[in-house]
Amino acid sequence: MKVRIHRGTREIGGTCIEVEDEGKRIVLDLGLPLDTDPVLVPVPGVPGLNEPDASLLAIVLSHPHLDHYGLVHKARLEVPALIGEAAWRILRAAAPFVRSGPPLGGRKVHFVSDRMPVRIGPFTVTPYLVDHSAYDAYAFCIEAGGKGVFYSGDFRAHGRKAALVDRLLNCPPKPIDLLLVEGTALGRGGGAFPTEEDLVPRFAKTFERTEGLALVWCSGQNIDRLNTVWKAARKARRGLIIDGYTAHVLAATGNRKCLQPDWPGASVFWPDNLRVHVARNNLFHLIDNPTWLRVYPERLAKLARRSAMLFRPSMLRDLEKADCLAGASVTYSMWRGYLDRDHKMTAAFKRWIGERKIPLHQIHTSGHADVPTLRRLIRALDAGTVVPIHSERPEKLKDLAKNVVLVNDGEWREVGGG
Ligand SMILES: [Zn+2]
Repeated sequence: MKVRIHRGTREIGGTCIEVEDEGKRIVLDLGLPLDTDPVLVPVPGVPGLNEPDASLLAIVLSHPHLDHYGLVHKARLEVPALIGEAAWRILRAAAPFVRSGPPLGGRKVHFVSDRMPVRIGPFTVTPYLVDHSAYDAYAFCIEAGGKGVFYSGDFRAHGRKAALVDRLLNCPPKPIDLLLVEGTALGRGGGAFPTEEDLVPRFAKTFERTEGLALVWCSGQNIDRLNTVWKAARKARRGLIIDGYTAHVLAATGNRKCLQPDWPGASVFWPDNLRVHVARNNLFHLIDNPTWLRVYPERLAKLARRSAMLFRPSMLRDLEKADCLAGASVTYSMWRGYLDRDHKMTAAFKRWIGERKIPLHQIHTSGHADVPTLRRLIRALDAGTVVPIHSERPEKLKDLAKNVVLVNDGEWREVGGG
C-alpha cells in the first residue's frame, strides 16, 4: 500500500490524500483550500477525478467541513462517496441556503458508521466516530496488503464527544504502520485547550451581565457550540432565538439529545436576507416552523432582555429595524483569525458595533486537538511512521515524537517503508 498527500502537508485546508494498493485507489477527503475561490481551484491530480479511470474506487469523506469536502462536486459523478449519514443530512439541509447547491447531488453515496468496517476493493476502511467541531466526524483506519494506515481526520478531545476519543485511545486499532495526524494546533501553544463545558459559565456570565439582547456569533454547523450557548442561556434564564438556517441544520442531526428548534425556550427567527432568498428561489417549504415557534421582528424588542440570539452580520438591518439593541452585547465565538481578517463584512460589523458602542466579547475553544491530545494519540497508536497533515507548522510535531517524517504535497510514500 502507498499513500500520497495532494494538499495539506504544509497547510490547513484543501485536504486530499490518495491511497493505492494492487493498482486500486481511494481518496480520503477532497477539500477546498482556505481563502480560495471554489470556481477557480482545480481538483487535485488524482487520476479518475477528472477523466474516467476505473481504478479509482471511492472518495471517503471524514466530515462535513468545506476544507474536507469542498471540491467533491467537481469530481466525476461516477466515483461514489462515503460519508456519515448525519453529516450527509446536514449538507443536504444547508444546501438550499448556499449558492453552490448540494455537494453530493447526483452521486452514489454510501453511509459509514462508527467501527463498522467497509470493504472497498483491496481496502478495509474502518471509521471511528471522533470529537470535532463538525458533527458526525470520523477518523479512518485503512488496511490493505497486510499494512495499516490511520488517518485522524480533524479531531479533538475537549468537546462534548471527548469520550469517543478516550475510547479510541484506550483500545486503538493495531498494528498501524503509518499515522496521518492533523496538526492544526501545532505552533499555537503547548497547553490544553478549554473544554466546551468550560465555556458554559463564561457565556452565562456574559448573558447575565448584558442588560438587553445577548447576541452570539457562532457557526450554524458547530452543534457542540450551539448546545453550549443553549445551556448558558438556560443558566442565565434566557430563551434562545435561532435563525431559520441554523434551525434546519439542528433538525438535520436527527439527534433529539442535541438542541432542537422546537425545545421549550427555543424559537426561530427568519432574517430578511433568508426570507428574500427563500422567495427568490421559490423555497417556501423551508419556512416550515409552526407560528408558535417563530419570533417576528416586532416582538424582538420585547424579548430582548430575556433572550440570547444567534447572530451574523447579515442580520444587522433586521436588528436595527426591530429597534431591539438597547443594552445589547455581541459574543464572537469562532476562530479569532476570521474576525481579524481584512474582509468587507467583518469591517462593516466592527464599524457598526463601534458606532453603536455595543460591547464585543470573545468566547471560544478550538475544534482541533491540543498538543497533549496529539501526544496521547501518537503514543496510543504507536505507528511505525507519523506524518503531520492539516498544519501550518508540521515540523513542530517532531517535538512530540521521534518517528515523525515530513513529506511534500504530491509525493508517494510506501506504507511500512520506514
Ligand atoms: Zn479541516
